[in-house]
Amino acid sequence: MKLLLATRNVKKLDELRRILAGSPELLKVELVGLDDVPPYVEVPETGLTFAENALLKAREGVKHTGLPTVADDSGLAVDALSGMPGVFSARWSGKHGDDRANLELVLAQIGDVPDEHRGAAFVCAAALVLPGGGSSPNGREHLVSGKMAGRLLRAPRGEGGFGYDPIFVADGNTRTNAELEPAEKDAISHRGKAFRALAAVIAKNLS
Ligand code: IMP
Repeated sequence: MKLLLATRNVKKLDELRRILAGSPELLKVELVGLDDVPPYVEVPETGLTFAENALLKAREGVKHTGLPTVADDSGLAVDALSGMPGVFSARWSGKHGDDRANLELVLAQIGDVPDEHRGAAFVCAAALVLPGGGSSPNGREHLVSGKMAGRLLRAPRGEGGFGYDPIFVADGNTRTNAELEPAEKDAISHRGKAFRALAAVIAKNLS
């Protein structure tokens, strides 16, 4: 049985493949990416919550490919910015996917914020949408979420990961996410938590 991972972010796709491939209940599921299916135009992320956007992207995958589809929406919620950049994390500086500019802008915006108020969390909503059925989403749409709490540094550190990883230190850690080994990040990350929970839902629904 094929399962589409509907993300255009290559580093995120690597993380999803890694996390789901490590789930024993998904051994019989063939994970395919957007490069493996006929191309379709990306749906605008018009939702105001991670859950809405994850569902939008997963529904779009089903609509265009007929395959059961998984999608996620994720971002950084900064305490001192009232939860922003949130769903705007990928385009906070104005240009979609410019990780360096996004990170620099957040650092500038909280430049005056003292260490004790530099809390932040990564949040991930992950959706599984199944093909078929009528217009009712009952039983066809599944949502889970995951969170990783931590704090923001004043300058980037580390070469790994992506996005805001070089300025984020998870609770209980001294290294930034960008200084962790991939498996160390997966074990504690918002995406790791959400997708390990989703793996059980996928196994139940695709068997
Ligand atoms: P999405 O592709 O719309 O979910 O955008 C997610 C954006 O949130 C990314 O472009 C990053 O800026 C940020 N983000 C989400 N997860 C992570 C992570 O694990 N590390 C660093 N940044 C992340």
